Amino acid sequence: MPSLPEFSLKDKVVIVTGGARGLGLVQAEALLESGATVHAFDRLPEPDSDSAFAAVSRRARDELGVSLTYHQLDVRDAEHLNKVVEGIASEKGRLDGLIAAAGIQQETPALEYTAEDFNRMLEINVTGVFVTAQAVARQMVRLGKGGSMVLIASMSGTVANRGLNCTAYNTSKSGVLQLARNLAMEWGEHGIRVNTISPGYIVTDMVEALFKTHPERREEWAKHNMLGRLSKPSEYRGASVFLISDASSFMTGSDLRMDGGHSAW
Ligand code: NAD
Repeated sequence: MPSLPEFSLKDKVVIVTGGARGLGLVQAEALLESGATVHAFDRLPEPDSDSAFAAVSRRARDELGVSLTYHQLDVRDAEHLNKVVEGIASEKGRLDGLIAAAGIQQETPALEYTAEDFNRMLEINVTGVFVTAQAVARQMVRLGKGGSMVLIASMSGTVANRGLNCTAYNTSKSGVLQLARNLAMEWGEHGIRVNTISPGYIVTDMVEALFKTHPERREEWAKHNMLGRLSKPSEYRGASVFLISDASSFMTGSDLRMDGGHSAW
């Protein structure tokens, strides 16, 4: 039990998209540790390849007395999404939170970016997040108890990353920031809060893929922020618990920028 009771997520039911690995899985573990029951959504047939998901799931059951359940699901499939979310909400008659972390990255110079690839980026990173939030909000409104949503944006929704050709990704994250403000406005009357987290560079599979072609980026990018290093997924644990919990009860339509000062100078 945390010393500040408003940070407790005891008995809360929370959905985490992109929860098979990376930032989503680390967020899921933080929610479990704070007492929540967590449902992870991801398109991967099996969560992770190094059994990190299985370890978190075991720990949830054996040590924490809660549960982590995996649902294979593509956030572009609205019908499937709504069905699964409704099932989860009906199970315990509650749905308290969402962390929308599913997303993709693609590095291609703007002169070569195809419309098809650009649309795919927006379909997953913006429409996918919207449809997920909508499915969750429908259940929160039906149950009448409100809730809290955290949409994972990025510092790249606000600044252009020096030397990284990812116009479509940055455009999509800018869309997530604006999406959250508008959903917060529409759903505030239902007691549903919607906020974003804008991380800086986090060393996950997504970023490792960008290092493959340019290994020098690992050191170069670290110099682009005020702390002189890249971040770890675990550095966002507290932010998610804070935003899902009652500790942030008067916070909505806001962005939590956590980028080591990258966009502050
Ligand atoms: P990741 O690639 O490790 O995880 C993303 C997860 O989303 C994967 O498990 C993937 O299978 C899932 N996913 C992708 N498309 C999906 C779909 N259509 N339906 C369901 N699941 C889907 O990357 P990550 O670094 O952990 O990224 C998590 C979030 O954080 C993303 O939204 C990303 O844009 C954001 N982010 C990452 C960084 C970073 O530096 N890594 C920085 C800022 C923001």
